[in-house]
Amino acid sequence: MIRPLVGQSKAPAGIVLRAARELVALREAGRIVARVHEAMQRAVRPGMSTAELDAIAEDVIRSYGATPTFLGYHGFPASICTSINDEIVHGIPSPERLLQAGDIISIDVGATYKGWVGDSAWTYPVGDISPEAQALLDATEGALWAGIDQARSGHRLGDISAAVQTYAESRGFAIIREYSGHGVGRQMHEPPQILNYGQPGTGLRLRPGMVFALEPMVAAGHWLTKVDADGWTVRTQDGALSAHFEHTLAVTSSDPMIMTIL
Ligand code: MG
Ligand code: MG
Repeated sequence: MIRPLVGQSKAPAGIVLRAARELVALREAGRIVARVHEAMQRAVRPGMSTAELDAIAEDVIRSYGATPTFLGYHGFPASICTSINDEIVHGIPSPERLLQAGDIISIDVGATYKGWVGDSAWTYPVGDISPEAQALLDATEGALWAGIDQARSGHRLGDISAAVQTYAESRGFAIIREYSGHGVGRQMHEPPQILNYGQPGTGLRLRPGMVFALEPMVAAGHWLTKVDADGWTVRTQDGALSAHFEHTLAVTSSDPMIMTIL
């Protein structure tokens, strides 16, 4: 249950606090993103091209009267990002890129509905994957949930960052440091920046009505990254596997409200 909030009042650092009715609208955008992930989970299999996944995702988004937030964003040419194996984020769907058994694929989805944005990423196994790859997926998803559990009124941003970092690193994995989570609402990227590493008890004090996209990116090797010649695809420098899990959520007066679930 969400208590009524003071609409559009300003928190420190210029962060907008969303009123209850705005959270309801955001939830609708988030639910459409979740519908896309439901379709992605069904569609991901060996032999499927990333362009086919993109077409399915765009169809789902538009079928709900929403628009793909990523399409045209700084010139991005597709509706979703598809990042395979050592690719971390921002992979561009292509008809030539076919999934193979044993791959892992991170699919990032954004949908804009009635002016509100939902943003969520998930890494899927393609067929049977190695125990090492599964451990990476488990650690990254677990890091996301550990972070979400800290997204509570009165906590601080560093509590989220530290929880994410501790969860992943204690399982032997590395936090990608060059990319971060963010505020989200009317725009896909709003303040604050949410690092996936940090110190508890530091940073912005969380208040009901803050809406964040929390998105740990985790590597099985070193965290250093590089960008391909296409200007988009980010991958690990050392070629190690990477995973990416993201939800859009709101801080409330009680439990965090997750927008990007069904
Ligand atoms: Mg995203
Ligand atoms: Mg995001």
